[in-house]
Amino acid sequence: MTTRLVRPAAAFALFFISAALASAATPDDCHTLRKHGHRPEAQACYQSLTQARDAYTRAEGDWGLANYDQANNEFRAAVAQADRNALYRVRWGRLLHERFNNKDADALFQEALDRDPNNAPAYVGMALVSADGFDEKAVAWAARAIQLDPKLVEAHEVMANLALEDSDTKKAEREADAAIGLSPDALDAMAIHAAIALLADQPPQAWLDKIHQVNPTYGEAYSLIGFHLVFNRRYDEGVAYYRKAIALDPELWSARSELGINLMRLGQVDEPRQQLEMCYSAGYRDAATVNSLRLLDSYKNFVVFKDDTTILKLHKNEADLLHPYFEQVLKSAIATYEKKYKMKLPGPVQVEVYPDHEDFAVRTLGMPGLGALGVTFGEVIAMDSPSGRKPGDFHWAGTLWHEMSHVFILTATNHRVPRWFTEGLAVHEETEANFEWGDRITPDILVAINERKLLPVADLDRGFVRPDYPGQVIVSYFQAGRICDYIQSRWGADKLLDMVHSFAQIRTTPDVIQQDLGMSAEEFDKQFMKWLMDDVGKTAENFDQWRHGIEQLAQFDQENNYDEVLKEGDGVRSLYPEYIYEANAYQFIAEADLAKHDKKAAAAILTDYEKMGGRNPGLLQQLASLEKDLGEPKEAAATLDRINYIYPMSEDLHRQLGDLWLAQNNYQGAIREYGAVVAMHPLDKASAQFSLAQAYYANGERDQAETNVLAALEAAPDFRPAQKLLLQIEDSEKGK
Ligand SMILES: [Zn+2]
Repeated sequence: MTTRLVRPAAAFALFFISAALASAATPDDCHTLRKHGHRPEAQACYQSLTQARDAYTRAEGDWGLANYDQANNEFRAAVAQADRNALYRVRWGRLLHERFNNKDADALFQEALDRDPNNAPAYVGMALVSADGFDEKAVAWAARAIQLDPKLVEAHEVMANLALEDSDTKKAEREADAAIGLSPDALDAMAIHAAIALLADQPPQAWLDKIHQVNPTYGEAYSLIGFHLVFNRRYDEGVAYYRKAIALDPELWSARSELGINLMRLGQVDEPRQQLEMCYSAGYRDAATVNSLRLLDSYKNFVVFKDDTTILKLHKNEADLLHPYFEQVLKSAIATYEKKYKMKLPGPVQVEVYPDHEDFAVRTLGMPGLGALGVTFGEVIAMDSPSGRKPGDFHWAGTLWHEMSHVFILTATNHRVPRWFTEGLAVHEETEANFEWGDRITPDILVAINERKLLPVADLDRGFVRPDYPGQVIVSYFQAGRICDYIQSRWGADKLLDMVHSFAQIRTTPDVIQQDLGMSAEEFDKQFMKWLMDDVGKTAENFDQWRHGIEQLAQFDQENNYDEVLKEGDGVRSLYPEYIYEANAYQFIAEADLAKHDKKAAAAILTDYEKMGGRNPGLLQQLASLEKDLGEPKEAAATLDRINYIYPMSEDLHRQLGDLWLAQNNYQGAIREYGAVVAMHPLDKASAQFSLAQAYYANGERDQAETNVLAALEAAPDFRPAQKLLLQIEDSEKGK
């Protein structure tokens, strides 16, 4: 039997395999062959395991041969025969983890620990499952594994990987060294070292050579490096490493899938489809692969608007409606940032707008952070459409503005900027663009401030990647944004730009703060906190009192007890004026004012709400009607126009704003708004088309006016006002 195995291979392997097979190979023998790149021998070894008498060994054999279903069945049999065995459960769990079933994998690791509470490999399994979801427990599980078995190489490798995700390079190095000290085959630890070198723009070659000596076809190392490059937003380089991974090992489907996904992130379509289809056909069907293929299929439903600097991809059902608004904000962001950051982008920016949040979510699969609204990959932005969220849930223009800052900053720093700084700057830019655009301080943030939970600036990245309490990602966005506000207010806007350039030189956060702000990171934390507390400390202090007050206000409101609402309302509001979210004081007070028929007071409080960044389209609509009633059509139009940047999905909004602007001789504005009505395919097509024709005619665009009035008459031939307008247009043409 062994003779058939003789092939050109390292002497070591020959010796090993013959020795191993002579006395029945063990799973570890086969894993070692594979780890050393002796593939045919490893295959033969796994094949021999499938002939074993016990189900567990057969399971390892089938797993090694990629017969996953068979392996799964054998593990089930093995576990049924040996209920107390922890190892079988851990290994079965690892198979399921590899085959995209983290839920059952986690349960098996737990069961293993029920049987053997000190089982270090079970903790490694739990760490791997948690790491997939950027769960903070991952680090605790890995630490527990190391504590239970300090000689467990993989535990140190997992810890090194987690530390590098957290940008804790020193710890990552320490753990990688520990693994290498324990085993000359700690290839993943070597890959971590190579990744650390690359992230610091040092040559990784020495580590790659070491890996090559052990296993010349170890694609996983390149895949791991690719992951960390992508994780640090260095997409092009990440793609190059994934390519190296599959060049060495064409059947490394996880790397091929990542290659496809990251090419999509760079705006490509054809090659990603090809790579992902190969994975799918080979049975590699994890959520990311399947959902990305589905997303590629849905691209046929998108309309692309292209010019020299922008590529805008909108869903065909809303493309005509959204196009003018998105284009305007996009162009305005480019012009603003070119001036502000003193640079131009090398190529066009691509913005993809997804009405289906699930499609957008595919873009962020495997990325850390909150259920984001937008995400930037180099020069490609993917974001939710306003239609994909509850009205008022988010401010799409602010989101686009935020993402556009990333595009510039990633370009300016060649993708070398810590997460906290690029996020902080982007948040800062939202309110720089317009005070009403950015998010206001939320109750979660006030609680975090009161509980002294803000992170030191040097550790702030961790708050984005691996939050250790539920609201920490949002708190970290806020903190990073306010840090940038603080730097601008104290040192001026150019200081922020200096820091961008310093980060481009790959300095650490403490180094950049020392150089550009002239103080240690610890000193900066102190001074920033003082500044922040001067600003929001009072509100934070008021928080409990406010919470009690707002509950009471809601109660009064429910009981239609408007006198009490009006008596208490302003006091509650002033405890925490930034609270513009659900069930806010502004809304209760306005309702009470209206119940008392005091339109003026209602308009005044809703104006405060609007100026504070309130973004509930219903409340803003209400304010606009009050302004109209009070004879303030200009204010009414300005209020309605704000809704365009929050939730432009209402036909009535566009019609009202068109009418107001036409009456105010803002013809271009009226054209845009009536155009939006037409784009929404209204039931009364004739009158929509007629209004648009009127606006064009008023603006002196006769051809457009004629086209639209004819469209109105096509929909309703007897429509008198349209007939009249057509005659008018024809007369004016004769007269010109
Ligand atoms: Zn961001």
